[in-house]
Amino acid sequence: MKFRDLELEKQLLDNIDNLRYSEMTKIQESVIPVVLNGNDVLVKAQTGSGKTASYLVPIINSLSQSKTRNTIKAVILVPTRDLVNQVYDSFEKLSVGTDLTACKIMGGIDKQTQKDEIKERPDIIIAVTGRFKEFMSIDLMSFKNVEFFVLDEVDKMLDLGFRSDILFIFQEIKKQTYNFNTLMLSATLPNNIMELSTNFLKEDYVKIDLEEEMVINDLVQQKFLVMHKSHTLTALLKLVRENNVRTIIFANQIQQCSKIESLIRYLGVAVASINGDRTQSYRDNVIKDFKDNRLSVLVATDLLSRGIDIKDLDLVINLGLPEQLETYMHRIGRVGRAKTAGRAVTICTLEEKEKLNKLVETYHLKAKIIEKESWAKPANENVKGINNLYYNK
Ligand code: AMP
Repeated sequence: MKFRDLELEKQLLDNIDNLRYSEMTKIQESVIPVVLNGNDVLVKAQTGSGKTASYLVPIINSLSQSKTRNTIKAVILVPTRDLVNQVYDSFEKLSVGTDLTACKIMGGIDKQTQKDEIKERPDIIIAVTGRFKEFMSIDLMSFKNVEFFVLDEVDKMLDLGFRSDILFIFQEIKKQTYNFNTLMLSATLPNNIMELSTNFLKEDYVKIDLEEEMVINDLVQQKFLVMHKSHTLTALLKLVRENNVRTIIFANQIQQCSKIESLIRYLGVAVASINGDRTQSYRDNVIKDFKDNRLSVLVATDLLSRGIDIKDLDLVINLGLPEQLETYMHRIGRVGRAKTAGRAVTICTLEEKEKLNKLVETYHLKAKIIEKESWAKPANENVKGINNLYYNK
């Protein structure tokens, strides 16, 4: 189905054309008409399936027709600052030629600049919860004309770390207006989150679950290499050296990132690492350099596991399984985006085997598990063979 089959504003359709989105993705086909119809939605859709446009397109369309001006009409909350930037970039592209404005609210940017922007009364706020809540407490924003409340990566947003903030924000907005639609989206929706989310949704909300598509399983070739803990770093370096492609490496701890980064730099590879301890401007620069191909390997914590969209990424390597199983799906979802192919290799220790089995079972992964305790031994091994060993099905 084409976007032009929907009755959208001409300027918006032109902007979509400029992005070369010829057809709607499955999720867009399901979500956009429902939001245009004024329903709340709870959406479970694969990573990289066009989720952002599935909510931005109907929001931009409705707000361009709205007669209310100079007031906040949509609040979009996401879990990381990097995702705020990305959603903002998508908004900018989709809203060219309209008079809609958006404002980012997040830590790492000068507060006064953000306050000044809010005083300009943007139509849309794209924010992480911390700074947003802080600004709410000083009565900087009015929500009486809010029409859309979006929780992107909703399972993360309703996770314990953010839950009370989200409830607070939702209730504060609700004190000022009842007249808004709530849109909740993620690639993973555990049962407890599904139950919780109904507290935010109107009774006639529409649940959209395209899980049966499971595109990621077909598009992303997944391998798990199980080995003794002492071999994992050697294995990682071999994978990087022998593949020599655009790669994101996920590490479980902040401290590991710099160490991995230095080791990879020794290989002569253009690499950088980011984690929550880095300043926002450093994070922005590194992501930009990676997107613009000036870096070929990026080492990151799970800060980057959600939502971040990087074109032409070939490989995701996980050094260890993430703490929460669903995070695995988000990490590997950095490849296989917009129906492109990709590979994911996870280096697991022998101790992680049980968790690995649970992961494969839970997500019905079509994965290859290779347990070979000695494969990473540097001496006298057929190092060249590794590539074939791990990538030929
Ligand atoms: P998202 O899941 O929103 O991060 O989108 C994943 C990727 O798909 C992004 O690079 C989008 O630019 C791209 N995309 C979104 N919608 C479409 C579409 N209808 N056709 C082609 N690509 C799209």
